[in-house]
Amino acid sequence: MGKIPESTIQAVMERTDIVAVIGEHVRLTRAGKEYKGLCPFHGERTPSFFVVPEKGIFYCFGCGKGGNAARFLMEFEKLSYPEAIRELGAKSGVVVEQGQPEISDGADRERNDLFELYDRLSQTFAWMLETQAAAGQARELLLKRGIGDAVRKDFRLGYAPADHSWLAGFLGKKGYSPEFLASSGLFSSRHPDWPLFADRLVFPIMDSRGRCVSFGGRLLSGDGPKYLNGPETPIYHKQDNLFAFDRAKDAIRASNSAIISEGYMDAISFHAAGIKNAVASLGTAFTDRQAKLLRRLAEVAIFALDADEAGQNAIARALPVAIRAGIDPQVALLPGGKDPSEILENEGSEALHKVMEFTINAGDFLIRRARLLFDVSTLEGKAKAVDFFMPYGEAFESEIKRDSFFEITARALLVSPSSLRADFVNKRRSATSGTPLPQNRDEQVRRSRELTLMLAVAVHGSFFQKVRSQLKLEDIEDRRAREVFIALEECFRAETMDVANITERIGASDLRIALLEAAASGEFDEHPERLVEDGLANARKRGLEKRLGRILERLGEGGVAEIQELLTEKMHLDEELAKLKDERDERP
Ligand SMILES: [Zn+2]
Repeated sequence: MGKIPESTIQAVMERTDIVAVIGEHVRLTRAGKEYKGLCPFHGERTPSFFVVPEKGIFYCFGCGKGGNAARFLMEFEKLSYPEAIRELGAKSGVVVEQGQPEISDGADRERNDLFELYDRLSQTFAWMLETQAAAGQARELLLKRGIGDAVRKDFRLGYAPADHSWLAGFLGKKGYSPEFLASSGLFSSRHPDWPLFADRLVFPIMDSRGRCVSFGGRLLSGDGPKYLNGPETPIYHKQDNLFAFDRAKDAIRASNSAIISEGYMDAISFHAAGIKNAVASLGTAFTDRQAKLLRRLAEVAIFALDADEAGQNAIARALPVAIRAGIDPQVALLPGGKDPSEILENEGSEALHKVMEFTINAGDFLIRRARLLFDVSTLEGKAKAVDFFMPYGEAFESEIKRDSFFEITARALLVSPSSLRADFVNKRRSATSGTPLPQNRDEQVRRSRELTLMLAVAVHGSFFQKVRSQLKLEDIEDRRAREVFIALEECFRAETMDVANITERIGASDLRIALLEAAASGEFDEHPERLVEDGLANARKRGLEKRLGRILERLGEGGVAEIQELLTEKMHLDEELAKLKDERDERP
C-alpha cells in the first residue's frame, strides 16, 4: 500500500469527532468533560470506559485499552492502521488516497474474498427478486406479509433461483476456485456443486458494519426445511451476530432498548411497521455475545418471541443471559399465540405498535411461567418452582436486585422470602465454580520522578518547548522517561503535540497505558505548570549533583590550576543548587 501521507492522517484526525466514532458502537453518557460507557473490550456492568474528547482519546480503567479514534477502530473492528484512517476519512470527509491493497496474510485474504463474494451474491439475489419472473411467488409473499418496496430494498432481500446448477456456473465464471467455493458456506458439504439456497426467498445477514456475511432462506415451494440458515464461516459466527442489528443500531441507541424477535420475517415486520429497534436472534439461543453487543447501546431488551411453547422456553433461557450482561429484560405479550409477522399481516402496523406497549418484566414473566409449569399449591410443585427460579437469582449482580427478585417470587409462590433466599445460598455454596476473576492487567509502570515529569508533559504538550530547552535526552536516566521524551520530540517536530498522537508513537504497551491512564484520569490537570517546574528543577538538580560528584572525584588530581578551576565550578554548582532549593521552599 502506498503509505498514507502524514499530513492526510493529521487532517483526518483533526476532523474526527472521537465521541461520534465511538458512540456508534458504545452507548456513551456525558460525565463532565468526558463521556463514559461500558467497555466493549472486556465484560463489565459498571462503566470504566472513558472518552475524553478534549484530548482525543479513549481509555478503559478496567482493561487498559486506550488510544485515539483510529486505535479504537483497529481494536474494535479489527482494522489495520491504514484501513482505520481511511474509515475515519470517509466519516469526516477527508479524501484518503487509495493505495495498492496491502499484502496481507492468507487468512485476511480469505476473509476479504468472502466479504466480496457475499456482497456480490447478495446484489445478484436482490436483482433477481426485483426482475425475474420466477421470483414472483417471493414478491407476493412479501407483499402479503405487509413488506413493501422500501423495506425489501433496505434489507436487500433476494431470490435464489430454482436451477440447482445456476450458482456453481455463475460463480465459476467469476473465477473463484473450487476450493474457495467449497469453504464459502454456499454449497452443500456433501455435494460441492449443490447450492444451499435454491428457489428460496433470501435474507442477507449483515455484520454490525453492514457487510453481508451469510444468508438465510425461506422455502417457497417443494420439500425441505421452511427456513435455512447459512453455516459458520471465517466471516460468520452465529453467536456474534443479530439479524438486522446494522439497521437497528441507531434506533436501539436512541430508544435505549432493543426488541429481540425470533426470525427474519419478524424482525423485518417490525421495521416495516416503523419499529426500527428490532433484531432477530438467528434461530439460536440468545448468547452472551449477542447480549453484550446490545448492552453497549441500550439498557433494556424486549423479548418478542413466539407465544408457543418453544418461544416461551427460549425467553426463559434468554432472561438470565440478559440479566448477566446488565440488561433489564422485558417480555412482550403477543396475543393469541401470534408472532409479530402474523400480527402485521392480519392486523396492520398499528396493532403491532399497540402490542409492544404490553410488556412485563422478567420476574412477572417467570412467575407466570412457573405457575403454568408447576402446581405451586403442592409442596413438590413449590420446590420445583424454587429450583426454576435459581438461575435468575444467580444472574443478578447486585444483592439488592436479587433480594427484591426473591421477595416478589416468594410472594407469588406463597413461600417465605427468607426460605427462598436460604435455598439460594445453600445451592450457591454447593456449586463448585467460582466467579471469574477480573481480567489481568500488566503490572503498572513504576514511576520515577523523571517519568512523572515526562507523562505530565505528554498530557500537556505545550510545556515541551520549555522542557527541551532545559533538558537533554542524555540527562534523563530513566529508560521509560527517555522513550516518552523521544516520542515528544518527534511530535514536536511534526507539530502534532496532542496526547493521542504522542501515545501512538510509544512502542511499549504498558507505557502507553500509563500515559493514557494519566490523561484520562486528569491527574496532571491541576496546576500542570507547577508539576513541570518542579520536575525540571529536580532534573536540573540531579544534573548539577552529578557534575558536582565528578568534580569531587577529580579534586585530588592535577595541579593547582586545575584544582582551582574545579573549586570555582564547584562553588558555582553549590550556588545553583542552593538557588533551586530556595525557589522550591518559597512555594506554598
Ligand atoms: Zn475495558
